[in-house]
Amino acid sequence: MILIFLGPPGAGKGTQAAHIVTRYQIPQLSTGDMLRAAVAAQTPVGKQAKAVMDAGNLVSDDIVAAIVEERIEADDCATGFLLDGFPRTEAQAEMLDAMLEKKERAVDAVIELRVDESALTERLLSRIAETKARGDEVRKDDNEETFKKRLAVYRDQTAPLIPYYEKQGKLKAVDGMGAVEAVSAAIDAILVEFMPFEERENG
Ligand code: AMP
Repeated sequence: MILIFLGPPGAGKGTQAAHIVTRYQIPQLSTGDMLRAAVAAQTPVGKQAKAVMDAGNLVSDDIVAAIVEERIEADDCATGFLLDGFPRTEAQAEMLDAMLEKKERAVDAVIELRVDESALTERLLSRIAETKARGDEVRKDDNEETFKKRLAVYRDQTAPLIPYYEKQGKLKAVDGMGAVEAVSAAIDAILVEFMPFEERENG
């Protein structure tokens, strides 16, 4: 099963991704995590991406697509994977379709986590507070100003993917405002149709 999570920053993609990984045994491919790892390791890609990420802008389509293309070759992606944070532009979506087509594979479903934008800043502030309380380091792009920029980038560059996948008949919207478990249950209800019959039965 090849799945995409679509939604603005703070919509709960990472939280729901954890559920998908355990329940469906497919890896989560977060381009944000991969880029942060590249920044930490100070690779050439990381050095190039750092300032762009800190400012809340998007890293170039070619760089991100190359990272994804390499990652999905790995054995653990053979039965499927969840893309979290990719594609983020229409160009990336086209690149993804092309790379999957070469491998005779295709995206099965795109889950859009629909959230009320006014609630997102609240979520961000509590995420920062929780991270600090755990004694973990707060992401450099997790501050109110950069967050607003990331939201604007989502609206301008990523939201056009909604009609893109709607046209392909793959878009499934989920209300992302409920409790974590309620959102997971709504996602499970959608994914049932993508599961082999035995897995459905064993639930
Ligand atoms: P995320 O963890 O998904 O919020 O991503 C953090 C940052 O990494 C974004 O604000 C971008 O700067 C960069 N990034 C992650 N995924 C992509 C992508 N698919 N295309 C371009 N930039 C990305």
